[in-house]
Amino acid sequence: IPVDPFDLVIFGGTGDLARRKILPGLFRRFCAGQMPEEARIIGAARSDMDDAAYRKLIADAIKEFGNGFTFEAATLNAFLERIGYVAVDATGTDGWAELAGRMRDGTVRAFYFSVGPSLFGDLAERLHTHGLATDQSRIVVEKPFGRDLQSARALNATLAEHFREDQIYRIDHYLGKETVQNLMAVRFGNVLFEPLWNAQYVDHIQITVAETVGVGGRGGYYDKSGAMRDMVQNHLMQLLCLIAMEPPSKFEPDEVRDEKLKVIRALEPIEPHHIVRGQYSAGGDQPSYRDHAENPRSNTESFIALRAHISNWRWAGTPFYLRTGKRLKARTSEIAVVFKDAPHSIFGVDAGRHRNVLAIRLQPNEGMTLDVTIKEPGPGGMRLIDVPLDMTFADALGDEAEEVTDAYERLIMDVIRGNQTLFMRGDEVEAAWAWTDPLIEGWKQRGDVPKPYDPGTAGPDDSMMLMHRDGRRWRELK
Ligand code: NAD
Repeated sequence: IPVDPFDLVIFGGTGDLARRKILPGLFRRFCAGQMPEEARIIGAARSDMDDAAYRKLIADAIKEFGNGFTFEAATLNAFLERIGYVAVDATGTDGWAELAGRMRDGTVRAFYFSVGPSLFGDLAERLHTHGLATDQSRIVVEKPFGRDLQSARALNATLAEHFREDQIYRIDHYLGKETVQNLMAVRFGNVLFEPLWNAQYVDHIQITVAETVGVGGRGGYYDKSGAMRDMVQNHLMQLLCLIAMEPPSKFEPDEVRDEKLKVIRALEPIEPHHIVRGQYSAGGDQPSYRDHAENPRSNTESFIALRAHISNWRWAGTPFYLRTGKRLKARTSEIAVVFKDAPHSIFGVDAGRHRNVLAIRLQPNEGMTLDVTIKEPGPGGMRLIDVPLDMTFADALGDEAEEVTDAYERLIMDVIRGNQTLFMRGDEVEAAWAWTDPLIEGWKQRGDVPKPYDPGTAGPDDSMMLMHRDGRRWRELK
């Protein structure tokens, strides 16, 4: 279904994010027929160039970052006709009048801030002083949304001077993933799962976001941030919220976000011995984290594992284990809900211990599996095995899922539709910082040094111990 006609201005339209994700995503939506004839996209950035040069830049980006997506040359040309460019100085006056002149009346106006957060305030202000923003305009902002509670509050306050909360779309692309949304469909669309979705039946939950790449060229930026700020405070926390929240009364923005906020507020402070920080060492021909960061004394973590508890009626006593890191054994993101053992085994000890595990895989191969215990087929007696019920979309949905929509393009279409359900509200972001700030502050005060780990492993041994102490183990990274 096509969205309403829109003018989308991408500040930072020549940047890495715009070329890698935003414009290739918009092109795929165009190919899918979701973009109306009247849609216009305007790149706005510092570089001086005309429409033709920008179109060339975008055409090259689509070819380079299209992930094998095939299309006709004529289709690309038709898309490029909708694209323009204006050189704009976010901190000055250059270009703003021209940009204002390109805006049309009667279309949805969206402004994507694909620039560093230090420019958010300047952009928000100029959108008003130069008459670009209307009462219905939307702004889209990227992470990092602050680096602690104080800076996040300041950023929220700055944006709030110019835009209402219902005009602000804080992107966390994890929420745009097909499987993440399917998680909500599975939880709240079936009678099967929700009655078991609590401390009585769930032994524990594991959330893993593992990367094989190091910090590479982003070392300088990353070193000021670390895994806690870069991944846990936003992406992992958002996944935790969707797994743990109470059923919202409706699938509407504030209903969903109210429930997520309650989860964050119910998180207990973490004991220091329930957190493991790691930093990758050199390995093969690859440099170490400290080399990448060009900081031989860096104590920033490139890996973190922790055990969190949610203090509420549903989850009291059920641990949530979170881990994320770089230069690990596999690139895997998944959430695993590990159910308790059956209360009594009528098959005896020889049948082994079997558990139901619902695994929600974000990458690679988005999908869901539910491990169930059945009898091993054949005449060998009553022996039990686990088989995964595979709910992977490509198999289940066939052609419809052939082109699993990339998270960014789905979220941008939601901006045009005016649907904030999958975007973070300001108070959620602040609550998440309020939880992580004391942990980060604690490391600083104690002079905590991350544990080294070899590249290509599952992180430092202490991360295994975090689980083993509780009689549990991490799922294998594969
Ligand atoms: P980038 O450095 O590649 O691009 C920055 C863009 O901002 C350029 O187009 C530049 O011309 C423009 N710009 C800078 N100063 C300007 C000014 N004064 N006036 C007008 N334009 C100006 O950055 P990026 O990697 O595209 O990241 C953009 C934002 O998105 C950042 O906040 C980043 O943290 C965030 N982000 C990026 C990624 C990614 O994969 N690159 C992922 C998540 C979040």
